[in-house]
Amino acid sequence: MGYVKFLGTAGARFVVARQLRYSAGTWIELSGTQLLLDPGPGTLLRCRKVRPALDPGKLSGILLSHKHLDHSTDVNVMIEAMAESGRKKRGVLLAPKDALEGDDPVVLRYVRSFPERIEVLEEDRTYHVGEVEIQPVRHIHGVETYGLILNSDEGRLGFVVDTKFFPQLPQRYRGCDLLVLNVVRKEWSPDIDHLSLPEAIEIIQGVRPKLAVLTHFGMTMLRERPWELAAQISEKIGIPVIAASDGLTVEKAQWC
Ligand SMILES: [Zn+2]
Repeated sequence: MGYVKFLGTAGARFVVARQLRYSAGTWIELSGTQLLLDPGPGTLLRCRKVRPALDPGKLSGILLSHKHLDHSTDVNVMIEAMAESGRKKRGVLLAPKDALEGDDPVVLRYVRSFPERIEVLEEDRTYHVGEVEIQPVRHIHGVETYGLILNSDEGRLGFVVDTKFFPQLPQRYRGCDLLVLNVVRKEWSPDIDHLSLPEAIEIIQGVRPKLAVLTHFGMTMLRERPWELAAQISEKIGIPVIAASDGLTVEKAQWC
């Protein structure tokens, strides 16, 4: 049965640098296809240390939303592990163009021969990895960034990764059964490239998923106990909202 496992839930530089929460990525299984979203620092370690351990050699794809360090540090080692230490050409990498080209690509050139294929993310295109159809949503976040919608016969899952808020966001994620949102800050302030909690609530109310999960927390969220904030929001808006914790597994039954 499908599930989403949060290997890490850290979201801002301070939280990552001090490892107040782990900064590993999110492991997703849908219709038997295993995917990894945003392999930040410590992802390989967390895969092996969680119980039951997760085997990167079983991954069909790695999804990189953008090249910021807290999302991409382990991308090379995870590509190698997915390809069984580079012995086999296997798996797919989906990544924005600026993670692969330009002055400062984060995917090492010598690693690029390991996956079966590398595809460049573009809005209005659809990608297929195993049994999952993937639709990128262009975000506003300094570097080239894509949120991801994953469609499979186990539902429609939206991952609203790092972004500045813009009014079309709820519409772009419409129809999602499960909505995962990166909420770095509790309060809104101008000129920040991340979602604040009030903006996340606006998106959740627009999309009306069966379950919303908050993750990728900065200090202002952690100090206020994200699980309590999530419970208050659920009560207020009548849509189930939970806060991710390191190692949390959300199962299909929770979004179906
Ligand atoms: Zn970012």
